[in-house]
Amino acid sequence: MNETFTSVSQEEAGFRDRARLSFDLDADICVIGAGLAGLSIALEAARLGASVAVLEGRHIGWNASGNQLGTVMPGFALPLTELIERIGFEDARELWTLSKQGAEFVRANATEANMPGIGPSDGVLEVSNVDAGDRLISRLQMLAGDFDTDVEGWQADRVREVLKTDRYFHGVYYPRAFQVDGRKYVHGLAALARRAGARIFEDTPVVSIDHSGIRKRIVTPSARLRATHIVLAGNIHLGAPLRRLSETLLPVWRYAGITAPLGERVHEVIAFKGSVMDSDGVDHFRIVDGDRLMWESPETTWAARPQRFSGTVRRRVRSIFPQLGNVEITETFGGATGQTVHGMPQIGQLRKGLWVASGFGRQGMNTSAMAGQMIARSILLGDERWRLFSPFELVWAGGATGRAAGQMVGIWGRASSAAAGSLARYRERARVKDREREARLAEANRAAGTGPRRPPPPGVRPRLAQPPKPAAEALEPASQDQGVSQ
Ligand SMILES: Cc1cc2nc3c(=O)[nH]c(=O)nc-3n(C[C@H](O)[C@H](O)[C@H](O)COP(=O)(O)OP(=O)(O)OC[C@H]3O[C@@H](n4cnc5c(N)ncnc54)[C@H](O)[C@@H]3O)c2cc1C
Repeated sequence: MNETFTSVSQEEAGFRDRARLSFDLDADICVIGAGLAGLSIALEAARLGASVAVLEGRHIGWNASGNQLGTVMPGFALPLTELIERIGFEDARELWTLSKQGAEFVRANATEANMPGIGPSDGVLEVSNVDAGDRLISRLQMLAGDFDTDVEGWQADRVREVLKTDRYFHGVYYPRAFQVDGRKYVHGLAALARRAGARIFEDTPVVSIDHSGIRKRIVTPSARLRATHIVLAGNIHLGAPLRRLSETLLPVWRYAGITAPLGERVHEVIAFKGSVMDSDGVDHFRIVDGDRLMWESPETTWAARPQRFSGTVRRRVRSIFPQLGNVEITETFGGATGQTVHGMPQIGQLRKGLWVASGFGRQGMNTSAMAGQMIARSILLGDERWRLFSPFELVWAGGATGRAAGQMVGIWGRASSAAAGSLARYRERARVKDREREARLAEANRAAGTGPRRPPPPGVRPRLAQPPKPAAEALEPASQDQGVSQ
């Protein structure tokens, strides 16, 4: 693997030559926010020939987009069965297909030729914390049959061959899902967008917008911009330009850590090359730089310094793979994801020329790419498929109460996942013990000659078995039994 997960360099983070917007400008499209969403839209629109200006308040990839693991899978945070319930089978299938196209957009961009050191590799394994084989079968049938997605179901034995832990049972293997260096991808995307003609201005927060006219006005501290279309891709930090929009997102900060090199022992314990995530969304990890473990797990609904969570990451690693011992965490990072109440991203046109692309939650690689393609193609080619998102309205996320509730739900979700996992492992141990006990009993019977009777030799009439005693009689003491017969 040629990816190197060292800190994103100052140059990569854009500190060296950050261009601030210091003069008034006209463009076809103004994108607010240079994260994955804003840059995907800028790239696609510039490739289609539009003049695009991206305004970023801090620097490229400042938040989640520059601090993520780079796992790319099809689909959304909302489980597929719920998506079908919500919008029907045909529309769900179309959205799923679009989400796969989003993943393919990332694959096409994230080549070594385009982004040196991006290190793409195939295969993602989603593992179950509980023994839920039946659910797995119906899920596989739906994904492979109805949603045309390459998947393989792995039995617990196969999962445990590659992940030496009793924590995980069955798995769904996605051979076409993949991973790249997530923290490099956003800077590679910016470079591609610039190459296609988009202009990106950093240190340029948008403080207000006037979206009423045909030509819309965008105000920054040092200059103004006019554009026919504004795309709001500021995630939870959008703030003043449309505060009510930020309030439809529940901010959830996710944190990750990278261990010191672990040597050969990490391969003895984890023989799977791609990303692994559990179906409850608690842990997400993979091996990087040959023998280091990159592990994402802790989350909060308030901003905190990622360094605070190195102990939590270390404990998570130890609880899943105790054989690795007390690993040293040498690096931590994290960022805020915006989660919607319904679990689907916000993609669409709020009013003529005013677009939104946010709420990508924890699955932003493919979904933000999909948003980029849909919005750019709608503006420039009249493709109206973004309307498939119309059933998912902008719902207020509950403000401070929503955050507190979100934290409680998160804690409860993790606790119930842990409890369900413990119960599943307890049942598994009990099953193993039962099997061992039966084997010992059979062995003892064989030794004592009281095991299951062989058929009598030919010519010997079998004796009729005595009818069993009624239960009540069988419970009577022997002396009384004898007394009755006298
Ligand atoms: C630890 C972690 C691991 C993750 N791992 C994965 C993964 O493996 N796979 C995956 O698919 N997803 C992953 N995600 C989720 C993914 O990172 C996000 O969904 C995605 O980055 C969201 O992108 P965005 O562009 O919407 O938001 P952001 O990254 O938040 O970008 C928005 C940008 O807009 C700017 N902005 C906001 N307001 C203004 C304004 N008024 N003026 C100017 N600029 C403004 C901000 O400064 C920011 O840079 C992970 C997230 C985290 C935190």
